[in-house]
Amino acid sequence: MPVTILIPTPLRRFVGGSKSLEVIAGTVQGALTTLSDRSPELRRQLFDDQGHLRSFVNVFLGNENIRDLAPAGAAVAVQDGDVLTLLLAIAGGAPTANELSTDELRRYSRHLIMPEVTLEGQKRLKRARVLCVGAGGLGSPLALYLAAAGVGKLGIVDFDVVDLTNIQRQILYSTADVGFRKLDAASERLRQLNPEIEIVPHPIRLSSENASELFRQYDIVADGTDNYPTRYLINDVCVLTGRPNVYASVFRFEGQMSVFGANRGPCYRCLFPEPPPVGLVPSCAEGGVLGVLPGIIGSLQALEVLKLILGIGEPAVGRLLLFDALELKFHELPIRRSADCPACGKHPSIVAPVDYESFCGARGGEAPQDERGIPSISVEDFERRRKLGEEFLLLDVREPFEHAIVMIPGGIAFPLSELPARLHELDSARTYTLSCHHGTRSRQAYYRLKLAGFEHLQILSGGVNAWVEKIDPNLPSY
Ligand SMILES: [Zn+2]
Repeated sequence: MPVTILIPTPLRRFVGGSKSLEVIAGTVQGALTTLSDRSPELRRQLFDDQGHLRSFVNVFLGNENIRDLAPAGAAVAVQDGDVLTLLLAIAGGAPTANELSTDELRRYSRHLIMPEVTLEGQKRLKRARVLCVGAGGLGSPLALYLAAAGVGKLGIVDFDVVDLTNIQRQILYSTADVGFRKLDAASERLRQLNPEIEIVPHPIRLSSENASELFRQYDIVADGTDNYPTRYLINDVCVLTGRPNVYASVFRFEGQMSVFGANRGPCYRCLFPEPPPVGLVPSCAEGGVLGVLPGIIGSLQALEVLKLILGIGEPAVGRLLLFDALELKFHELPIRRSADCPACGKHPSIVAPVDYESFCGARGGEAPQDERGIPSISVEDFERRRKLGEEFLLLDVREPFEHAIVMIPGGIAFPLSELPARLHELDSARTYTLSCHHGTRSRQAYYRLKLAGFEHLQILSGGVNAWVEKIDPNLPSY
């Protein structure tokens, strides 16, 4: 039977802010059990260790208090469309959600003894609601440290599946998680780490349609994404909803970190009003990243989130922190709020989320597609036509160490870095098919060869990655 449960204000934070919820149940007890399955903390609020409804919780079925429905009580059957009202004795002397249990006091004791945190700070952490967008290299240390520190509500947005190539840096996951949804594995790991807090998985692709409503359920948003459309979306919606945006990005041996939008600080668009052209900056899937780097930068993000919640120290507002792992150097650049900023300037042109895919040139993160009118061929088409006897000159523009990992049969090793010096080896009258790891560098090679007068060019969509995935899964991928 679908039953509506009205949620009192103190409990709404356990159910994503909802005022009411519909559950399917046969009895009042069943409805309350289904409700409390949503969060262990909510269960603790409603039931004691023996599973009995706590004495300071009253449940009304329609206008009847179920305590008056003896002998059935909570076992009383519900009808289709019944409404249950939860009534809490606010001054009943019971521990409220704002208090720390004995277990929590012990768990957070190293925080409590610091004068900058104390019990008051720990309660703030417990009340805090933080949304991590992305559960990858940055999101892993970020979520782990925020959960460990006792952030009361931790939301995570991700729709990806754990891949073996993730494990090198995404420390939320183990090898056994490969092939499973990241959110499921992450939620389980974080609940094991700290069962006292609420973990809220959001298995969605963040979009212009859903971001505003989601961000309003949180106090702070942390950007752990890897693509431009989502970065601009996060920035704009943070500005529009007044949420601080704890930003970070990593590439190869370099990291960036800042806090945007807090305390009237600049936003991401004050610094970068527009994304770089497609193909100029490769993604981590194209350019690689040293495994520990997101660990360092994601930990700095966690640090800034905790500082914002506790209101201590100097947050990275108006400062862009740069980290060079090879030189082991931190460097800081001041960034100012721009009066002309399209998001947070004096006359903002962005008054609602826009279409970020087209704004960023449809650059979809780790799977760049040819959307620039460059002639391209799919790996399936390429293989089919080659089998029919058509000859292709396949230039593999990856670097030699990548050629050593895997090659498409018949491919010619022609690294992008050697292209200018080896142009004379090519014949501009012939047709070349360009291939790389995913597609970014073959586009770069395409533009260079075009400039050098080559007319007959096409790129192999998705590169060697697509080849292994769709044509020969027995070959190694990386
Ligand atoms: Zn701005």
